[in-house]
Amino acid sequence: MSLLWRDPWLKPLSRHDLGAEKCSYCEKRFVQIEFVTSCDFCEIGVMHDQCANKHILSEHKKQLESKINTHRDRPLHDYQ
Ligand SMILES: [Zn+2]
Ligand SMILES: [Zn+2]
Repeated sequence: MSLLWRDPWLKPLSRHDLGAEKCSYCEKRFVQIEFVTSCDFCEIGVMHDQCANKHILSEHKKQLESKINTHRDRPLHDYQ
């Protein structure tokens, strides 16, 4: 099992900053409050958080797995 920790930092973006009015994945228009994110692997644009999860799992499974593996053996905190 792999649990991925998404950056818990919420940054409000104005519509102008986003340059997008709808989700790049499901193409639904954004309503007042949406949790959005972008893809770590490509430049698809702004998506709903949930849509990004689906997109990454379907489009970038291999890259995701290699990313998980490169981080797996690394300790969370490096006390030297
Ligand atoms: Zn969406
Ligand atoms: Zn992508």
